Amino acid sequence: MVVGVAGGIAAFKAPTLVRELLAAGAEVRVAMTGSAQRFVGAATFGGLLGRPPLTDLWHGGGEPHVAWGAWADAVVVAPATANLLARAAAGMADDPVAAIVCCARGPVLWAPAMHGRMWRRATVQAAVRRLREAGDAFVGPERGPLASGEVDEGRMAEPSAIVAALSALLGPRDLAGRHVLVTAGPTLEDIDPVRFLGNRSSGRMGFAVAGRAAARGARVTLVAGPTTLPTPPGVERVDVRSALQMHDAVVACFEQADAVVMAAAVADYRPARRLEHKLKKGEGPIRLQLERNPDILADLGARRGDASRPVLVGFAVESEELEAAARDKLRRKRVDLVVANHAEVGFGGEQNEALLVTEEATRPTGRLDKRALADLLLDEVVARLADGAS
Ligand code: C5P
Repeated sequence: MVVGVAGGIAAFKAPTLVRELLAAGAEVRVAMTGSAQRFVGAATFGGLLGRPPLTDLWHGGGEPHVAWGAWADAVVVAPATANLLARAAAGMADDPVAAIVCCARGPVLWAPAMHGRMWRRATVQAAVRRLREAGDAFVGPERGPLASGEVDEGRMAEPSAIVAALSALLGPRDLAGRHVLVTAGPTLEDIDPVRFLGNRSSGRMGFAVAGRAAARGARVTLVAGPTTLPTPPGVERVDVRSALQMHDAVVACFEQADAVVMAAAVADYRPARRLEHKLKKGEGPIRLQLERNPDILADLGARRGDASRPVLVGFAVESEELEAAARDKLRRKRVDLVVANHAEVGFGGEQNEALLVTEEATRPTGRLDKRALADLLLDEVVARLADGAS
């Protein structure tokens, strides 16, 4: 992967992008324009990569743009300035980044960053159009606070969104044309206007599944309980709070879905009555009457009956007898796959370790990133979708 850095203030995020790409297992080289070096030092990239970035085409011999363009499976330019977009659109190749783009064997992804007025200028948009016509892809810019202090469209996409866009560009598109429904996060069951019952859940696993499914070409609906996570690129999000709301949102699009992945930590019980005013505390204990929430996944399993669509995936968090509990859930809820993990592993972090339990087999995954686990789970979904008639 070549990361091309142009001269804009957002260049300070380029080292973060490089680190995220390295963490995702990519091999990375960096090329910089002259003005990029006014914003971020070559030594920063040298330190991260153990090799200096390419900063000019004239020293070092050979034709680095040809060699790097052939080596890279993709080129991502972040930030991409109006100047660089215009030069690249015109086919110019007078600095290391533009020259590598011009000679790239693989796809080119641009992450523009500039003032909103600059971004909207017809000449800049014409350059973008021209690059798109040449087959290049774009991520962002986003609307948000700009360097000038104004809030406008022009902010560079976050490094994580750039990485997701890259993997969408490079990854398999084996879920293209499919609709995947994912639930994530906890549900919160209100006791009164300020208190609730809920489960420990960051939502990370479900968001990873939604992000990877979108990257693999699916149309994704993510029904999310309260979390602080950003919506993955390309994902349609429906926010809910309680189990009953989640149930309604899921049932509303269940029939159009090719697969449903229930990663949410749904609260099993809710207060029988939500108090209109804050419950006053006294000295003694209180009694809270709880009612059973619907089991959304079991309801979907029952609605599906003997049909093979949608493919149903559940999660199981247990503190003992993991496999037996997962197998029991598989049969009882009539689902195709249960991803089972120990209660101590996976909470809140970026990694997880699970058993993939189907009717036919139990497969331990080893410890891995939640995104990688999401891919394993989706591999199983793809296999099942291929088995049945589409
Ligand atoms: O029965 P248990 O809660 O362990 O099952 C976990 C699986 O069932 C998860 O996939 C979870 O999203 C789903 N579930 C549900 N509705 C509930 C409880 C759990 O859909 N009320």
